[in-house]
Amino acid sequence: IFPWEVEKIRTTCPFCGTGCNFDLNVKDGKVVGVTPNEESPVNGTSLCVKGRFHTDLINSPDRITTPLIKKNGKFVKASWEEALSLVTSKLKSIKDEYGGDAIAGLSSARCVNEDNFVFQKMMRLVFDTNNVDHCARTCHAPTVAGLATTLGSGAMTNSIEEVECNEVLFIIGSNATEAHPIIGNKMKKAAKKGAKLIVIDPRRTELADHATLWLPLNSGTDAALVNGIINIIVNKGWHDKEFIETRCEGFENMWETVKNYTPNIVSKITGISEDILYETAKLYANTKKAGIFYTLGITEHTTGTANVINLANLAMVTGHLGIENAGVNPLRGQNNVQGSCDMGALPNCLPGYREISEPESIKLFEEYWNTKLNPNKGLRIPEMLESSIEEKLKAMYVMGEEPVLTDSDANHVKKALSNLEFLVVQDITLTETAKFADVFLPATCYAEKDGTFTNTERRVQRVRKAVEAPGECRLDWKILCDIAKRLGVKGFDYGNVEEIFNEIREVIPTYKGITYERIDKVGLSWPCLTEDHPGTKFLHKETFPRGKGLMLPVEYEPPAELANEEYPVILTTGRMLYHYNVMTRYSNSLDALRPCELAEINPKDAKDLGVKDNEEIRVTSRRGSIVSKVKITDRVKPGMMFMTFHYKESPVNELTNSAYDPVTKTAEYKVTAVKVEKV
Ligand code: SF4
Repeated sequence: IFPWEVEKIRTTCPFCGTGCNFDLNVKDGKVVGVTPNEESPVNGTSLCVKGRFHTDLINSPDRITTPLIKKNGKFVKASWEEALSLVTSKLKSIKDEYGGDAIAGLSSARCVNEDNFVFQKMMRLVFDTNNVDHCARTCHAPTVAGLATTLGSGAMTNSIEEVECNEVLFIIGSNATEAHPIIGNKMKKAAKKGAKLIVIDPRRTELADHATLWLPLNSGTDAALVNGIINIIVNKGWHDKEFIETRCEGFENMWETVKNYTPNIVSKITGISEDILYETAKLYANTKKAGIFYTLGITEHTTGTANVINLANLAMVTGHLGIENAGVNPLRGQNNVQGSCDMGALPNCLPGYREISEPESIKLFEEYWNTKLNPNKGLRIPEMLESSIEEKLKAMYVMGEEPVLTDSDANHVKKALSNLEFLVVQDITLTETAKFADVFLPATCYAEKDGTFTNTERRVQRVRKAVEAPGECRLDWKILCDIAKRLGVKGFDYGNVEEIFNEIREVIPTYKGITYERIDKVGLSWPCLTEDHPGTKFLHKETFPRGKGLMLPVEYEPPAELANEEYPVILTTGRMLYHYNVMTRYSNSLDALRPCELAEINPKDAKDLGVKDNEEIRVTSRRGSIVSKVKITDRVKPGMMFMTFHYKESPVNELTNSAYDPVTKTAEYKVTAVKVEKV
């Protein structure tokens, strides 16, 4: 195919939160390739393997192209009329009999902002419930809670462009080269230019090879480690007294706890020597352009919110906030998880993070939407599952999410889904979750729709329709509006997707100045308050949204499961380069690069087990047992192993623990005690 034979449609990558831009190359109505968009401030001419080679998933033979209804345990094809009549009549009768709170919905970080906005609006206006959540619950909910509490805004403080200009990068619990490859590349470029990388991870990730300091701490000891670093900084007088006095509160309260975390005590808890703790504290505190970067190694713990609060404490103590090339930077997981949160696909927040518990918020949205709203907080995903098992929750509507493979303790998830009276799944393929559905509604993928995604740096970017959807697939927001209208609810008469975006701008002040026209070529990062506002590269320049930054004491708590005689190995989970969650498995090109799980174990453990590379092992936890091929590597320590959650053939979440962060109900995916046997 010659370049002049293809039409190029500019859009945004549907995988990780980096939000790279590229042009979909279209020939004869089919996507035939991808070329980067060099104007993009996010990725320029670079793309990772997923962005570049994924397009065969758009035309995947696994796409479901007609509605399906389950009859006698088997799916049969149905018309849209039949499927939507069944969905509306069944959900209406459940609402009439048990009330709206007997229904719950999962919105999707894989869908555009406009789909998410309509989804939460449907749950609130049509079904009269705040039972709406999405996959942020399994990843960055502690970020939203922790940063909103301390700084007043639960988002990345700085921009992706700045990564290369940091002089110290404090990277904790983030395998950026695989999970956010373009950001990972920028980190490595920074190192090449002379920046110092401090990589804190029990596993020797690829970034650790480029680090000045690698701290292989014991899994789940992050809170103690950060307390120890703050302890050294303050005792050495390396803290920023002026910043603390003028811009923060709570220092004394925090110090009452942190003063007890002496280097000696912290070294014993974390396994990191006192010398390395000292070097880390010195390097981070004494470099002004020093940014903290983290992902799920921080949040997916029973102490997830506390860990995030502690990183904010560290940045405030050193004054590394409100300036360029520094800050606290959560790298959001999925492409639109920031947007899904912004849109209010959360059980405790209306759009724009207006708390349900605040009567003012309810009043505001009742006026916007000319309706009465349910003032009670909704259920979070784990609570929805529990409620189903208790037979209180009767129905769920799942749009573009795969809890059976991605939520912890998968057997519990399956039991909860089986227990529902009615399950609707709206997706592009028959996912493992969809197999439990009563009705399947075929939707469009990102290449077949218009809208916007908001990436990890708060940049709102266009998603554009490049090709027609196959068969009878419909746009997500149109399906939802159809349901609302069939049930006689007003406020869903959108003529096109831009009308939805304009409503978003009306109700979320930080989006007010962003128009489709302004983001035609390059996106804008919120807050963007007026139509002549340039967007915001970094946050908290003069003040924090909550006024003063709040320092809070954080105590170290060990993980919920520790290794013992019966389960002597600690399993930690994460992502790998060639796959993004489970979606990329539908791309034959990407799947061919890594078609199966390769559980990483240390050479010593492999020798003890008598296994070689590519042989099979059985991994068993208190909740389940799975089989996987093995990869022997010293990137994991003896007594530790690593697996991804991409493979339904080796579903690692049958093993993971559903012990939760008490604030957000995010599960402790990062620490599971297991035993390993040769098959
Ligand atoms: Fe960029 Fe992430 Fe897409 Fe790779 S997966 S191209 S890093 S947005």
